[in-house]
Amino acid sequence: MTSRILGRGAAALPAAVRGEGCYIVDEAGRRYLDGSGGAAVSCLGHSDPDVRAAIHDQLDRIAFAHTGFFTSKAAEELADRLVANAPEGIGKVYLLSGGSEAVEAAIKLARQYYLEIGQPERRHLIARRQSYHGNTLGALAAGGNAWRREKYQPLLVETHHVAPCFEYHFREEGESAFDYGQRVANELETEIERLGAETVMAFIAEPVVGATAGAVPAVDGYFRRIREICDRHGVLLILDEVMCGMGRTGTLFACEQDGIAPDIVTFAKGLGAGYAPIGAMLCSDEIYGAIASGSGSFQHGHTYHGHPLAAAAGKAVLDAILDRDLLHRVRARGEALEAALNAAFGQHPHVGDIRGRGLFRGIELVEDRATKTSFDPARKLHAKIKAAAMAEGLICYPAGGTVDGRRGDHVLLAPPFIITEDQIGELVGKLGRAIDTAL
Ligand code: PLP
Repeated sequence: MTSRILGRGAAALPAAVRGEGCYIVDEAGRRYLDGSGGAAVSCLGHSDPDVRAAIHDQLDRIAFAHTGFFTSKAAEELADRLVANAPEGIGKVYLLSGGSEAVEAAIKLARQYYLEIGQPERRHLIARRQSYHGNTLGALAAGGNAWRREKYQPLLVETHHVAPCFEYHFREEGESAFDYGQRVANELETEIERLGAETVMAFIAEPVVGATAGAVPAVDGYFRRIREICDRHGVLLILDEVMCGMGRTGTLFACEQDGIAPDIVTFAKGLGAGYAPIGAMLCSDEIYGAIASGSGSFQHGHTYHGHPLAAAAGKAVLDAILDRDLLHRVRARGEALEAALNAAFGQHPHVGDIRGRGLFRGIELVEDRATKTSFDPARKLHAKIKAAAMAEGLICYPAGGTVDGRRGDHVLLAPPFIITEDQIGELVGKLGRAIDTAL
């Protein structure tokens, strides 16, 4: 059948017709264990009764009322509960339709903040070379993913990129993890000074790098040093938790585990858990206060921001995570997944690294473990793993890329928080067979 959907080979894809907990069922009745929640989206699985009920209930009342005229109980309650559980200082929420929109809003808010407080010369954004912040032009410009940027380079606003914190590839022989983290964090300060601190508005980073690297957390101390540098130079710290937030790593905000609070933070994916397209940008009271006492409003907006139906879904997802004690479960199941991955791949000749936090895990595939040499990209290993995993009845998220001259192939895992120990065994077994088939 010819597909009219403009996308990635939609004609060749099976049609998903039903969701059952951690499984997706296709039109032929084949069941796929969702080992990556698509791309770290489906944190509650595919048939959560409470989220479905909340969406139905909102739909029966009202689906849409433009935020230029109305607020909604769903949006207000979601914002209240997000703030009540947010890092210190975060006091306001802006609801959008997804991750890229949240990042765009964050960048624009940073710029407007500096205009409001009389520092219009602050315009530079600094990001990391290993990062993905979305596909719209502003978010794409922020991201460091060369392959995604390549075709659109002439359309991208200038962003300045510094080194990522990627211990497996870049910590030097004899260097402690802590010293490594301080060394790469200090590159931010060097870049701020090179540009002139008075011209830099913000630094953006993912606390745990997702799509471009496969669940890479920073080493201990890195983000505390980043926070110090930002504070010293009056640079806003934007944390992009679109993929790693909403409990994915075992705390509601991933940055809690790094011991810091951001000025602005973005959420999406797990916020709607796949039940509705929703993202959020949260900011500090200080930023909001500057705008409130200045021009009076954030000069931004999308027709669907604060959509009541999406907000009802987001509120039900947040309630489920907090009221069902799912954060505790993510930590416990995350340890079980880590142990299962270590048992299955710890001695595998082509698995160089097993990493991540909570139910956000990655494994890196290498030609040679000793030298960490990657596979030839011409082998298209990640595409082969994806196909072999689907044939096994598993959804996982393999990808590959190069950062600072080091190429890597990884598989990202982000299963639903409701995954059982047996399903973890099923996931790792299927993944092992898929990797061996693809190799
Ligand atoms: N930021 C991060 C860290 C992401 O991983 C993604 C998507 O993968 C985005 C932003 C963009 O989100 P969306 O695809 O919802 O626009």
